Amino acid sequence: MTTIEVAGLALTYPGPPAVPALRGVDLRAEGGLLAVVGPSGCGKTTLLRALAGTERPEAGSISLGGERVEGPGLHLPAEARAVTLVPQEGALFPHLDVAGNVGFGLRGLPRDARRQRVAELLDLVGLPGSERRRPHQLSGGQQQRVALARALAPRPRAVLLDEPFSALDATLRVSMREEVVALLREASTTAVLVTHDRDEALSLADRVAVMHEGRVLQVGEPSEVYRRPSSLWVARLLGETVEIAGEVAEGVAATVLGRIPVAGDGERLVLRPEQVVPTREGVPAVVEGVRFRGPEASVALRVGDTALTARWASTELPAVGDLVRVGVRGPAIAVD
Ligand code: ADP
Ligand code: MG
Repeated sequence: MTTIEVAGLALTYPGPPAVPALRGVDLRAEGGLLAVVGPSGCGKTTLLRALAGTERPEAGSISLGGERVEGPGLHLPAEARAVTLVPQEGALFPHLDVAGNVGFGLRGLPRDARRQRVAELLDLVGLPGSERRRPHQLSGGQQQRVALARALAPRPRAVLLDEPFSALDATLRVSMREEVVALLREASTTAVLVTHDRDEALSLADRVAVMHEGRVLQVGEPSEVYRRPSSLWVARLLGETVEIAGEVAEGVAATVLGRIPVAGDGERLVLRPEQVVPTREGVPAVVEGVRFRGPEASVALRVGDTALTARWASTELPAVGDLVRVGVRGPAIAVD
């Protein structure tokens, strides 16, 4: 597993107008799967290109497995980095068959060795014997697997995946996600997966880096960045929030929902909707709306003057107009 270390990485696309796409990215991931999540335009693709060596940053450094590949006066070319990139679109060469695509990074190998490695990879991704097929004869999911096989074939130090599932339909997306992550784990490859989809980041990754306007705001395990966001912006990016007012004293907030333990130190209190639960000892609330969403529902509540949204299992839903009692599970997070 390859440790990836990025410090102070800055990259501006020359204009006019000049676009500062990376503004000092700091990041460290010790192998496994790192998801980089952020809105469109925040610099995710640029970060991957800088890691791959296809763009040259003007400042900062990158080390892969302890080897410095980017730094002041140093820019190891892409071919010398042993990192492969699965681009967002057009991942396969349409004029090459599957074997040609998967073997693309193996051109230095003798023909037999290359053929054997291609067959191995096609086995790994569940497409044995498909060497002679062409990209247009494959489904979207199969193309994705071939692209992954091509990226893994040269045994790279790290695989970089740029929104690999965004072109797939919803059902395929979920099954491909699980498959691809299982394949990456089987190949024991360090991977960086870029996405704007928070569910993807939170459900797949070992670590999540949250990116905003050319910077990484927070890096941590999925549960950590979701439950302990470092700012209101991160909290909102990673899920729905319940933002309430409260006086905090000695780690406890007095709020309309009662007294709630507080973690962190900031001005504003944030809960997740699933923390607001029906409970007999809770405070009275009026149900103002119920939006069914499958296994769970969003329940709009009013507590005094405060409107908030909870998320409850759809097996036990109240009706609009009901008077219920609600309480809070777990701490509120104080953020700025
Ligand atoms: P993301 O992948 O998160 O959507 P990008 O890294 O593609 O973000 O882009 C970051 C910023 O850099 C955006 O403002 C984008 O418009 C700009 N940008 C991306 N590529 C280029 C380029 N080749 N030339 C000029 N500006 C670019
Ligand atoms: Mg992008």
